[in-house]
Amino acid sequence: MVYMLQQGVIYGPIQSRRYGRSLGINLSPCRDKLCSFDCIYCHYGRTRRHTLDVTEHRAELPGAAEVARKLAAALPRAGPLDLITFSGNGEPTLHPAFPEIVEAVVALRERHQPAARVALLSNATGLLRPEVREALSRLDLPILKLDAGTEETFRAINGPAAGIDFAELVSLLAAQPRVYLQTVLLDGEPANTTPGELEAYCRLLRRIGPLEVHLHSIDRPVAHRTIRLVPAGRLRELARRIGDQAGVPVRAFSAGS
Ligand code: SF4
Repeated sequence: MVYMLQQGVIYGPIQSRRYGRSLGINLSPCRDKLCSFDCIYCHYGRTRRHTLDVTEHRAELPGAAEVARKLAAALPRAGPLDLITFSGNGEPTLHPAFPEIVEAVVALRERHQPAARVALLSNATGLLRPEVREALSRLDLPILKLDAGTEETFRAINGPAAGIDFAELVSLLAAQPRVYLQTVLLDGEPANTTPGELEAYCRLLRRIGPLEVHLHSIDRPVAHRTIRLVPAGRLRELARRIGDQAGVPVRAFSAGS
């Protein structure tokens, strides 16, 4: 099943058991997903605009002033929020003005919704830009993707755009002082749940030292039919084993959480 793309800069609020009530910010175009990954399980389907360089898509991205204006209008009307979340139709950190937008969002949160945390759901490729690394320190919940323990599985699951090197991403994650990791576990082909993959993944977790790891699986059928969901009970069991092996806090989230 392919989701409908968000049709604006601000969307929601969306209620989830995991994060509570969240207002979303979409910094990507509304016609097409724009992402530096082409994940095999992506709910938005294949990535047709697959790049680290968004220059040719710039005209379709919202300006920093537009994002601030729309958020300033939405926040007082949204009701009490737990989160304000950068997510949307692709990879938020690809936006050239991402650091400036983060500053504006944090200031607006303080003015209109001081109890809400500012979160980012990202595939981690923004870490390649120093100014994005700096901006991440302003966020309450920087949640970055790590779906593999090895380069081969990373390429098979995440389909990175040209110029993205797995070893470099892992080093950048390890250099982050505060990071939450999010991992989608998959059975089938390709899988990241084989004993060898899990061992390599746990080695990386030990090296990165995240504040917390959030484990998920796909929660509905996706277009790629060779991959399979990891059932809720096994996901919980894997969370326990990975937490023990890697020595980091790990939580499992199943469908609807
Ligand atoms: S990083 Fe996110 S938006 Fe991009 S292809 Fe993967 S799942 Fe989809």
